[in-house]
Amino acid sequence: GKVLVSGANGFIAAWVVRSLLEEGFSVRGTVRSASKSAHLQKEFASYGDKFELVVVPDITQEGAFDEAVQGVDAIEHTASPFHFNAIEPEELITPAIHGTLGILRSALKHGKSVKRIIVTSSCAAVLQIEPEPKTFSELDWNEQAPKEVAEMGRSTPPMTTYRASKTLAERAAWDFVEKHKSEIGWDLVVLNPPFVFGPHIHEALTPDALNTSSRQFYTMLTEPSSPAVRHTGSCWVDVRDLGRAHVLALLKPAAGGERIIVSAGPFVWQDWLDAAPESPKYEKGAPGAGKDAVHQIRYDASKSGRVLGMTVYLRWRRLREIRRAIGRRGDGK
Ligand code: NDP
Repeated sequence: GKVLVSGANGFIAAWVVRSLLEEGFSVRGTVRSASKSAHLQKEFASYGDKFELVVVPDITQEGAFDEAVQGVDAIEHTASPFHFNAIEPEELITPAIHGTLGILRSALKHGKSVKRIIVTSSCAAVLQIEPEPKTFSELDWNEQAPKEVAEMGRSTPPMTTYRASKTLAERAAWDFVEKHKSEIGWDLVVLNPPFVFGPHIHEALTPDALNTSSRQFYTMLTEPSSPAVRHTGSCWVDVRDLGRAHVLALLKPAAGGERIIVSAGPFVWQDWLDAAPESPKYEKGAPGAGKDAVHQIRYDASKSGRVLGMTVYLRWRRLREIRRAIGRRGDGK
């Protein structure tokens, strides 16, 4: 089968593409401009004509994906802005919503062979800021962020704007499916990852060019921070596991119609400082001090185990082993 991956040059998408190719799928990726093709063509050269790229210059344009969806069996929609450089909230919200609706609409009109569409949403569309620590599940929706954007406009904190964009885009996707259920020949799966970390295989030649979550990770590891910051965190998933989840979401019939949190567990930044290899490049913080930190946000990721058969906990376990090994070494060698 052939799978369309939007925003193929992104941090997560590159791993989605690799996971699909490894599974034997053909992949058609979309990028915004031809200049973003060369790196991926090289990265996936060994797959020959099983990998192709097409240019979709503006995902918010009516019919932008009309051609790209033709002849594919499934779609993985990852393209969506995740940055904090917007002045107007619409700079994030419009492409998030209209990119998602656009690809669904193109699939409805021109995706005769499409059986399943997977949308990369986010835990940003799940979590809310609560006074007490909370374990969120797929039943939870972020009602707060869209409300705050409506009230605060361009003075909304950038992270809140991003969360609103993901919430509104995911809502729009489910509403579209509900509205058109009698006409569509495919079902929808939504994946909701928390912070995504791990090795990058997309093009990022300098730390500044990294995607937002990787850059934040890099900054935390390489720049001094206060204990207050080091003891905050969230939940995370390894980008390789998330790539695999995008394949499993395609392969597992039971995933159809499901919203699925894909999370390896909670972290505080100090955990990563503890896990980092011994190097003068990396901050140390206060080793071990993160272990007593309170995790304000947790996710019930049991559905990903039940429906996708995810083994995301493996890598989390490996992190703990590394951390223990570092602790045992003691002398810093
Ligand atoms: P990247 O920034 O690496 O990738 C984003 C992709 O979306 C790029 O291909 C980018 O194209 C494209 N894109 C961004 N804005 C637009 C736009 N206005 N029009 C068209 N294409 C656009 O980020 P990630 O890989 O981290 O994110 C991929 C998806 O995963 C996003 O939907 C994000 O919300 C979601 N996600 C990410 C998490 C994380 O921690 N990284 C956590 C949870 C969800 P270009 O390179 O041309 O800008």
